[in-house]
Amino acid sequence: MTPEAALDRVMHCLDRAHDKGFRAKAFQRARDVVRNTDPSEIEERAAAGTLKKLDGIGDSSAKVIKEALDGGVPRYLAQLEATTQVPITPEGERYRQALRGDCHLHSTWSDGGAEIGEMARTARELGHEYMVLTDHSARLTIAHGLDRERLERQLADVEELNEGFDDFRILTGMEVDIFEDGTLDLADDLLGRLDVVVASVHSKLRMERPQMTERMIMAVANPHVDILGHCTGRMIGRRPPSTFDADYVFAACKQFGTAVEINCRPERLDPPRELLDLAIDYGCWFSIDTDAHATGQLEWQPHGCDRAAEREVPIERVINTMSADDLLSWTATSE
Ligand SMILES: [Zn+2]
Ligand SMILES: [Zn+2]
Repeated sequence: MTPEAALDRVMHCLDRAHDKGFRAKAFQRARDVVRNTDPSEIEERAAAGTLKKLDGIGDSSAKVIKEALDGGVPRYLAQLEATTQVPITPEGERYRQALRGDCHLHSTWSDGGAEIGEMARTARELGHEYMVLTDHSARLTIAHGLDRERLERQLADVEELNEGFDDFRILTGMEVDIFEDGTLDLADDLLGRLDVVVASVHSKLRMERPQMTERMIMAVANPHVDILGHCTGRMIGRRPPSTFDADYVFAACKQFGTAVEINCRPERLDPPRELLDLAIDYGCWFSIDTDAHATGQLEWQPHGCDRAAEREVPIERVINTMSADDLLSWTATSE
């Protein structure tokens, strides 16, 4: 294991444990230093005991680097591997086993912390057959959303990356902002070129109920939209769910073949239980997605699987239990 790989893995483990504190930041900094330093200099410094003279390397990261160079799994990493695993109930495990991909995740192209290739390799290691890359659309400037020109470059990149896999596929997509009038933050021709489109509300979350209902229905009814992302926009303990007429919205999801996302982020877990029950009653499709912004977060599907199991979501209505080809024909016919 190279020092960089060891530090990457430490970050992955801290991520999956939702540790965003000082430790995680310190390790990220150390990883960046190692990445940008000649490996021979790292080796020399490790031998001479001068790693910490590098700005950004502290006690813990120096130890991880040294132990990785010595040829074993660094002790701190081994401990993290054991203590940061994402728990899952036996009932949830049935859903997790059935999932073959993840339809909502981000890369460094928008506000994610890992390159597309790193996300893909991790998703593959987790047993997925595919992932849908859904970086933010241009309107979300704080998240460095993609405009036409950048999206087109990303599509070319994905095509190239896919040539490096024979048993895994990166499907193209975007998490497109839903404007206040229900139109989408991406031109029709581009929406039509993407494999999977997630549409989400990220602004004006406190809109009046009738307007929010109309806004969401407009998006759900758009023939290019495949998944309605984190429908209430809530952040548990920080931001209340937005208000809309869920009967109309889920009836529209059912009618237009738009899946309701079960968002696995621990601070979102969206939709809340009572809305999830309602969406099940309407016979909606679902997608159990991590909305990962780093490789470790790709391991969060158990959160959504447990929730799906608890509310008894019909497993055959979960679109990411399909193979990539079936998913693509599903998105094509649900248009
Ligand atoms: Zn979002
Ligand atoms: Zn997202």
